[in-house]
Amino acid sequence: MNAFFAPRADAGQIEPLVDGHGRTIGDLRVSVTDLCNLRCQYCMPPEGVDWLDHSEVLSFEEIARLVDVFASLGVHSVRLTGGEPLVRREFPKLAAMIGRIGGIEDLSITTNGFYLERDATALVAAGIHRFNVSLDALDRKRFAQVTRRDVYDRVIAGLQALEGLEGVTAIKVNAVAMRGFTEHDVLAFAELARTRPYQIRFIEYMPIGADDWRAEDVLTGEELRAMIETAYPLVPTEHEPHATARVFRFADGDGEIGFINPVSQPFCGECDRVRLTADGKLRTCLFSHYETNLRDPLRGGAGDEELRQVIRDAVWRKELKHAIGDEGFRKPARTMSSIGG
Ligand code: SAM
Ligand code: SF4
Repeated sequence: MNAFFAPRADAGQIEPLVDGHGRTIGDLRVSVTDLCNLRCQYCMPPEGVDWLDHSEVLSFEEIARLVDVFASLGVHSVRLTGGEPLVRREFPKLAAMIGRIGGIEDLSITTNGFYLERDATALVAAGIHRFNVSLDALDRKRFAQVTRRDVYDRVIAGLQALEGLEGVTAIKVNAVAMRGFTEHDVLAFAELARTRPYQIRFIEYMPIGADDWRAEDVLTGEELRAMIETAYPLVPTEHEPHATARVFRFADGDGEIGFINPVSQPFCGECDRVRLTADGKLRTCLFSHYETNLRDPLRGGAGDEELRQVIRDAVWRKELKHAIGDEGFRKPARTMSSIGG
């Protein structure tokens, strides 16, 4: 539970947010910046990124206002992401503002870990207890190959800063699984999960980056699981509602491994999530081809009820499912870094 959790005064007075397929929305991913200090191959081009202009990016107050409106509609879980959230100046201040919004029970972050050593204590003080840290390889050279930056040691130091820090309730390490690359580290990741307090999660590589995705480059969760089971038998844990990962524990000891399989085993039917981009656009699916501009009504002086109506209308049209693998699939115009993964 978020440190500042407070129930809302308007709880039960406003209809919850539902889409046209009967799914109730409870989770909001907020991208706080499109900027990033790494250039992961599956996410961003090496150079020539068309960054948002400062004036386009929502201020802390604007983000907090929108999160409050979402919370009034029943959103109770917020994940802060980017780009890299920790490159935004005074980010812990923003996290604390969001943590104090009534109805927000769970506040978490997805980060590349580069600034965690510097910021971990401030983030926990701001009300963030659950951390997802991206780490795609377990040696310096291979990590630099994926991220195009030689910063492995810093990310590891960031992860270590979280360990043993009072108030940290979950550390998850996310590795994007790519054929011809991730096989190399899969058992080392399993050993990491057995020896450190991190849940390791493999995410299937999705067609949402700046590179040319090919279906054959996706190393599926089932393939990874089979590789791990050659050394360490796994036992499924109970699936939590809306959880994206299928989580397993080791049969013979401590540690958990999760598999997020959006390509081979889509979980759209259970999706309770929408996204707010750094420039104030509401996206109802990672793979949406349209967005709803919340920034213009917000800056134009719209009241809460007016904003709620814009959000309700957009969410009603939430996509039933993504179309990866379908004939005619087109990737969205934005990359993961500017959507907020
Ligand atoms: N910069 C932060 C980070 O890397 O954790 C937060 C933003 S990043 C866009 C969020 C997550 O999206 C990361 O875990 C990253 O690995 C994942 N991601 C980015 N592009 C992806 C892709 N093409 N397929 C699967 N996951 C991807
Ligand atoms: Fe940056 Fe995260 Fe994208 Fe890597 S995955 S380029 S760290 S936003």
